[in-house]
Amino acid sequence: MEDSPYTTETLAIYEEFRTRHKLGIVVQAYLKRTSDDVKRLMDNGKTNFRLCKGIYVEPESIAFKERREIQENYLRLLDQMLSGGAQVGIATHDRYLVEESEKMLKARNTSPKEYEFQMLLGVLPGLRDEIVARGHRMRIYVPYGEAWYGYSTRRLKENPQIAGYVFKGMLGIR
Ligand SMILES: Cc1cc2nc3c(=O)[nH]c(=O)nc-3n(C[C@H](O)[C@H](O)[C@H](O)COP(=O)(O)OP(=O)(O)OC[C@H]3O[C@@H](n4cnc5c(N)ncnc54)[C@H](O)[C@@H]3O)c2cc1C
Repeated sequence: MEDSPYTTETLAIYEEFRTRHKLGIVVQAYLKRTSDDVKRLMDNGKTNFRLCKGIYVEPESIAFKERREIQENYLRLLDQMLSGGAQVGIATHDRYLVEESEKMLKARNTSPKEYEFQMLLGVLPGLRDEIVARGHRMRIYVPYGEAWYGYSTRRLKENPQIAGYVFKGMLGIR
């Protein structure tokens, strides 16, 4: 999922093709519209979500900006998805969200078939291994194909904070 000018169109493409192909859709917890989008998507059938915080810098009028607000919305959305019987990819490296998600999964007695954790290749491998050791499924995200370089630099340009993460990762600083 790219930045907000493309959200409506991307969801519409997903809606058009979801009945003919096995598809999932990414939603961003920082967008205020996401709960309504999730509701509509679930009303239209079993949905496979990837739930992430969102990486772009969006205006305050449409997006939560505070870390805590985004975390709270993330957990509300996860609860909404699990309550509606959706398939959920919990895509985050935020230890707080990982641990709160695990509590929610346990409290709901969620079947391992209904969710998995998802992380980017190379990001916080220690946390990744802990999650796997606790018995959860883990999917690793790898950009590939001819457009990988454009994709990677576009995301870096949109959110330069990521460059700091990558730099720290290269130096082995946590
Ligand atoms: C599988 C997957 C798919 C995604 N798809 C999308 C998408 O389609 N659209 C979109 O807008 N966003 C997408 N994202 C990015 C996501 O929205 C966040 O911007 C990003 O993952 C950081 O949020 P966080 O939940 O990891 O928490 P944060 O609190 O931001 O990160 C926790 C810690 O993880 C580390 N970290 C996080 N991201 C990186 C990174 N890129 N490189 C190095 N270290 C990092 C840092 O140490 C950081 O302190 C995706 C993320 C994942 C895991």
